[in-house]
Amino acid sequence: MEKSPGKLGRIVLVPCPAQGHLSPILQLGAVLHSQYGLSITVVHTNFNFPKNQPPPFRFISMPDHLSDEDISSNDFINVMSKLNINCKVPFRDVLGNLVQQAGGEEAGVACVIYDGVMHFPEEVARELGIQSMVFRTLCAGNIRIYKEYPRLVKEGYIPVHESKSLDDVPGLHPLRLKDLPVYKLKGYEGLLRLLEKACETGSSSTIIINTTEALDREALMELQKQHHIPVLAVGPLHKIAPPVSSSLLEEDGNCIRWLDKQAKNSVLYVSIGSIASVDEKELIEMAWGLANSKQPFLWVIRPGSVCGSEWTELLPEGFNESIRERGLIIKWAPQKEVLAHESTGGFWSHCGWNSTLESISEGVPMICTPSFGDQRVNTRYLCHVWKVGIVVENMERKEIDKAVRKLMVGEEGEMVRQRMMELKTRVDCSIKEGGSSDNSLHELVNLIPSV
Ligand code: UDP
Repeated sequence: MEKSPGKLGRIVLVPCPAQGHLSPILQLGAVLHSQYGLSITVVHTNFNFPKNQPPPFRFISMPDHLSDEDISSNDFINVMSKLNINCKVPFRDVLGNLVQQAGGEEAGVACVIYDGVMHFPEEVARELGIQSMVFRTLCAGNIRIYKEYPRLVKEGYIPVHESKSLDDVPGLHPLRLKDLPVYKLKGYEGLLRLLEKACETGSSSTIIINTTEALDREALMELQKQHHIPVLAVGPLHKIAPPVSSSLLEEDGNCIRWLDKQAKNSVLYVSIGSIASVDEKELIEMAWGLANSKQPFLWVIRPGSVCGSEWTELLPEGFNESIRERGLIIKWAPQKEVLAHESTGGFWSHCGWNSTLESISEGVPMICTPSFGDQRVNTRYLCHVWKVGIVVENMERKEIDKAVRKLMVGEEGEMVRQRMMELKTRVDCSIKEGGSSDNSLHELVNLIPSV
């Protein structure tokens, strides 16, 4: 398919202010700018406003009226619900100004692309007569559940009873009830309310998803049946976009020099992403599991991610001596670089969707310990469908030690690694010229109105 000619026009991106949401929407913006010539304006909440505002983007901050209590609560559902109410008027002001400024050097606003957990940008765009598209940062296998929740509640599957947790979810193969994001979630009704709204695409013309048919084909087909507008899988965007620096935390580049000194495929990279946390007991089990496995590791302990401590204070006595040079602990990694490094042979992850895509894209097999949200869905696909991961159900040192050895030096690990390489190849094909994601990207650009 031929590339569309450069389009003049401005895309207004409205990210959800969390690392795992911000990066992919900026990657989408970078693709639309670099390959199709569109101008990109990012309208971001004051909360988590990026210190780094990489060109070619123009960033505008918008008041969000979150209280200190909201911010410190770490309650994603509450924060999202508040943003959806508080940001509507400020966003209308910003978008209205952008529309008024258009003309001369300023490109007119062609389209608003907003993160799917928020609905206020769609309402505002509709009121101002501007087209909008919804962008989703999770896999289709997870998004397709949204519309099924009311049925699952009605049929008594939700809330999930522990005795039924291993049962299949009717109509949602390959998921079991314990894979659902609402499993063991206190106040799950709040999530259901948020997702009910997130399902309503309103006047949006298109659903864009950072996934690929190579991973998510069946779920994408199901999603397309649920919606009357095009559902376009255009990912993995980080492999299509020129590099965009979107990290909210400072990356420790020294770990790359440490990786340079390690043997090929020998290092296990460990990270639980930007939101998940562990308690002291889990930290101690992780530490001894890693130490006892005797495998080299690079461990990201994000400041604040261990409950009750600032950083590494709660690591057990004797741990540092026992690992000596074999392990490196850092605060935040340049993760994509780490996964692309030839010394990295495995990724023990919480299985956020970005981490999942980033690991698959580099052919790095995984150990999966999901914590909340879509992470259990991703884990189910990784371990059960694609068979490129090994699950650690309990943060328990013996189970961790066993899984690490199995993946890094065991025969089974070798097979998992091979399957991951095959999966990577299929994903690579989907982003090449004429691949499914490449085609969807052209289709998306053709759907953006000219101004
Ligand atoms: N990440 C990073 N450095 C780290 C840990 C994570 O750059 O030390 C990035 C990672 O590359 C990914 C994002 O943070 O793009 C995490 O997103 P994900 O969807 O995996 O999980 P979330 O943080 O949303 O739970």
